[in-house]
Amino acid sequence: MSLFENTLKQIRKASSIMDLDEDIERIMSVPQRKIEMQVPVKMDDGSLKIFPAFRVQHNNYMGPYKGGIRYHQQVDAEEVLALSAWMTIKCAVVNIPLGGGKGGIIVNPKELSEGEKERLTRRYVQLLAPAIGPDRDVPAPDVNTNAKIMSWIADEYSKIVGKDSPGVVTGKPVGQGGSEGRGEATAQGGVYVLNEYIKHEGLDPKNLKVVVQGFGNAGGIAAKLLVEDGYQLIGASDSQGGIVCSHSIDPNELMQCKVEKNSVKNCGLHVTQLHDVEGVDCKEVSNEELLEEECDVLVLAALENQITKENAPRIKAKIILELANGPVHPEGDEILNENGVVAIPDILANAGGVTVSYFEMLQNADGNYWSEERVKGELQDIMVKAWKDVKCNAEKHQSTLREAAFITALSRLEAKIRERGSF
Ligand code: NAD
Repeated sequence: MSLFENTLKQIRKASSIMDLDEDIERIMSVPQRKIEMQVPVKMDDGSLKIFPAFRVQHNNYMGPYKGGIRYHQQVDAEEVLALSAWMTIKCAVVNIPLGGGKGGIIVNPKELSEGEKERLTRRYVQLLAPAIGPDRDVPAPDVNTNAKIMSWIADEYSKIVGKDSPGVVTGKPVGQGGSEGRGEATAQGGVYVLNEYIKHEGLDPKNLKVVVQGFGNAGGIAAKLLVEDGYQLIGASDSQGGIVCSHSIDPNELMQCKVEKNSVKNCGLHVTQLHDVEGVDCKEVSNEELLEEECDVLVLAALENQITKENAPRIKAKIILELANGPVHPEGDEILNENGVVAIPDILANAGGVTVSYFEMLQNADGNYWSEERVKGELQDIMVKAWKDVKCNAEKHQSTLREAAFITALSRLEAKIRERGSF
């Protein structure tokens, strides 16, 4: 099953529970526009390489298309399509006036020099420029793209349209029109929602053991914020493997050690020594083993389809926080539900990133820049409101949080489409 078929399955499930108008379901099941490009780049050795690239504009009923650009060798049209549809749904869950889009280039950026990466990015923008813009379609960073690449996009687009247009992308460096708090936003938004869930269930973070899969931007920052809020971090992994400890791990030390030793899997001894307590220990685990560790909260912050029908029966966590997009396959999801594992779904849990991107667009539009405190406060208000809306729908329809998040989004999209008399 492709990633987009997973998305369609989720839309169909929510539609049937809420009795969504069939025509609205059909609109949500297809993208409005798919752009396919071939991007020629002069390499440093003088040769020419052509990189296939995409931008999918799924839906703009709520506002301009919005979504990241991914540079990865495994990007494909179906993946970009699925991610674009999730963006439409995600923006509607948190009720911000943005639609859904996503882009990608089939490239292994680790094989490119800095100059080659810049030429690839600028050429991609030249091909895409007629379709994007601050009121039309606003890209952002995703896997393997960052603030520097966003600056190149803003610069190239500004040259093409003949005026300074920082609002064509979000996720820029703060000095270039970026927003304070964007780096932490995805993790922070997820932690706000998890805290609400924990409060609702009458649980105390101090008694909850957390394992994080994907100790990168979203996962590493989530670990830090969770420990600040009293949770115990006992395990973490990255692409090379992970560790699980009998004591709580200091996420800042782990982050520093990961930089020095290249992977968290090499940091067991280091984080144990810091504790200076006899009997405590860390063991090295594979990526598969980490997911099945005994813990209360499993944070998924790496890739798609990490929990499937194969490993779902062995998951021991009681709560899953989905910071990655699509980390639980629908078949795995069914098994988790049967076993009483609660998944806080990606379209709610990781919506903090696009929410602060929206704040960045507002700040670019009127040139008035917000403090980090203001960003965090406004983000918390939006995430807590979205959580309450989703919880309310889950109770009303006796559904899972994932189904309720889709229902929340689809009702808003349906209302918007009808108000506009669009069909
Ligand atoms: P990142 O590259 O900073 O971090 C990803 C981490 O996952 C890295 O540490 C990598 O080594 C690790 N990883 C890769 N394969 C793994 C595996 N099999 N097992 C364990 N770890 C593995 O990327 P990020 O920005 O933190 O994004 C992570 C996920 O969150 C992606 O799915 C992304 O789409 C999603 N997301 C990110 C944001 C954001 O603002 N960063 C927003 C929404 C969604």
